[in-house]
Amino acid sequence: MGSSAIDTVRILELLPAPVFTMDELGYLGSWNRSAEQLYGYTANEAIGQHVLFLYATGTEDGQFVGMEEFFQIDGHAVFRVLHRNKSGATFPAELTLAILRHGDRDGVQFVATVTVLPLLQTAESDLLKLHASIIANSDQGILITDGNERIVSVNAAFSRITGYTQQEAVGQSTDILRSGVHDANFREQVRKALLGSGPWQGEIIGKRKNGELFPQSVSISVVRGESGTITHAFSIFSDISVLRASEQRMQQLVNYDSLTGLPNRTLLAQLLGQALATARRNNACCVVLALELSRFSSIKETLGNDVADELLRQVGQRWRTALRDEDVLARVGDTEFIVALLSIQKREHSGIVSQKLLNVLDPPFVIDGNPIHISARIGIAVYPDDGQDTASLLHCADVAVKRLQAEAISSYLFYSPEMNQRAKEQWQLEAELRQALSSGGLMLYYQPKVSLRSGRIVGAEALLRWRHPQHGMISPAKFIPVAEQTGLILDLGNWVLDEACRQIRDWMDRGAHMPPVAINLSARQFDRQLPAKIQSVLDHHGVPTDRLKLEITESLLMRDPDTVIPIMNELVAMGLALAMDDFGTGYSSLSNLKRFPITTLKIDRSFVVGVPNDINDCAIARAIVTMALQLRQEIVAEGIETAEQMVFLRNLGCDQLQGFFFSPAVDAIRFEEMVRNGERLQVHAYS
Ligand code: C2E
Ligand code: CA
Ligand code: CA
Repeated sequence: MGSSAIDTVRILELLPAPVFTMDELGYLGSWNRSAEQLYGYTANEAIGQHVLFLYATGTEDGQFVGMEEFFQIDGHAVFRVLHRNKSGATFPAELTLAILRHGDRDGVQFVATVTVLPLLQTAESDLLKLHASIIANSDQGILITDGNERIVSVNAAFSRITGYTQQEAVGQSTDILRSGVHDANFREQVRKALLGSGPWQGEIIGKRKNGELFPQSVSISVVRGESGTITHAFSIFSDISVLRASEQRMQQLVNYDSLTGLPNRTLLAQLLGQALATARRNNACCVVLALELSRFSSIKETLGNDVADELLRQVGQRWRTALRDEDVLARVGDTEFIVALLSIQKREHSGIVSQKLLNVLDPPFVIDGNPIHISARIGIAVYPDDGQDTASLLHCADVAVKRLQAEAISSYLFYSPEMNQRAKEQWQLEAELRQALSSGGLMLYYQPKVSLRSGRIVGAEALLRWRHPQHGMISPAKFIPVAEQTGLILDLGNWVLDEACRQIRDWMDRGAHMPPVAINLSARQFDRQLPAKIQSVLDHHGVPTDRLKLEITESLLMRDPDTVIPIMNELVAMGLALAMDDFGTGYSSLSNLKRFPITTLKIDRSFVVGVPNDINDCAIARAIVTMALQLRQEIVAEGIETAEQMVFLRNLGCDQLQGFFFSPAVDAIRFEEMVRNGERLQVHAYS
């Protein structure tokens, strides 16, 4: 080795940077101390090795990696390489190669200076770039806020979903996305997540720039600085409205009949199952109707599939409209429908509902200009009598409808013979009642109301009586409910109104000084036409309005006060006095009562029965009378049967009484006599 070589070694040792030399083939010639420190190889170990032994080895597929870049600076060649030290750790480095020429003998030598590149910095900036591009290109909306809940960054997906551009969003509060549909509790949870309570995931209804609300699936996390304080929060969200819509479509497919849009057998079974569980708990009853369209196949054959489909749709619509909202109507087969009456008070009512469903098919369906007539048969099964579960009820209803197969006309049949018997009796009753109405079988009886102060008859309640050719007197308690169910009550009500006015006129004509007469009104009569109808009957008979009073039950008033009150006001404006019947059974509150233009409260008989022995009844009677006196209303106690009851109520301050103790309802002639003779009806004995 010549002196120049020794010089080289010395010079290299003086350099603080890791430096080595190599010949033109790449074999190492010298190796300084810094290089020893950097690579962990001593000069002895390194010299004579090929430079490639410093490189990170091949990748898993055997490819050599190490040389990444080559470029020239000021006549030097600079390589960006990935080197590896003796213990195996790799690091990026820059090799700066300078050419060192000696005499021809030594040939060319390279001096390589190694600069270790800061590993972390490279990786971090690459990562940051990577992260930035992930955020920018993400399909999910990303929103980054600072510690003050101001938006500092959003991505393109955010803009696409919400409609806010980056410029519009940055600097705003997240409130711009608030839909306002979530309650305070929910918002608090989300806020806590933004304030670092931990990551949060859930669904939030957001609001787009155009005001449209949309469901989003969101996850929220926070970023903390070195001191642990929260510097940023970020929400990643996706618009799931599309998902929701397809979920709904799927639900629709699974649970609904595609032709009519009605529930299918699956949903029916589910709804019925739930309803039966509730009915079991409440000891209530449920009814299942199996409806089968007659003659449908011949319609399909002659008119074609499209018309048949349209017919099914229209039948479904008519039935749906005829039923109450809480009733279920399902299509379970080509021409088979099921109705589940889930909140039916009496199983007998199902006969009336069935008749109604048959009746709505009477007017022809008009499709493509052609009138089409169709009829149906209905089989009825009752829970719990005929079956305890969905399957057996559906079976029973089916059996019943199959029994009707032979019948050509629309009809319905109960599964149980006993129910059929009852239904038959009801039809009969209804038919006979209709008959009575037209042939003079009905009459009005009058029950006096007595004033304790004067001992005189101060009024009468007109009560309907039916004298049946075979069965004698039939109580209204028996036939009024049937009339209510069938709608016949409207005709009955009209008859009562007319008959009462006729009678009043008759008394007037014969110079009898009779007290006002109260008639009972059914809820069904209470519609907007009622005042005009009453006025015309009064006019027709020439009866002054103060001769007639109206009794309305408390439950009718409470059912729908907002429609009832205007009608009542109209009646009062006409000069009619209104009495609230069965008072105390409808749980009216004092404040509620004040809304009704009522002149008289009739304390229900059920509270009078236990007076004066039953402590509860006495307390209730006392409370009711006190309440009525506060409202300054006239009070009538009904159902007085004993002297003790009379005394008790008189002592409470109740003046007008009605009941068998004084007189039952009597016919018009007898009532006229009682009034004419000034009969004091027992009152004298106690007053
Ligand atoms: P309501 O309006 O509460 O009529 C009072 C009922 O109690 C009448 O029964 C009457 O006879 C009976 N009653 C009166 N005093 C006593 C008594 O001291 N003891 C007992 N145990 N009962 C007494 P009625 O006539 O059988 O009428 C029953 C229900 O039928 C009436 O109850 C009313 O809701 C209805 N009703 C009667 N006539 C008509 C009417 O013309 N139209 C309407 N919509 N309903 C009517
Ligand atoms: Ca009454
Ligand atoms: Ca009553």
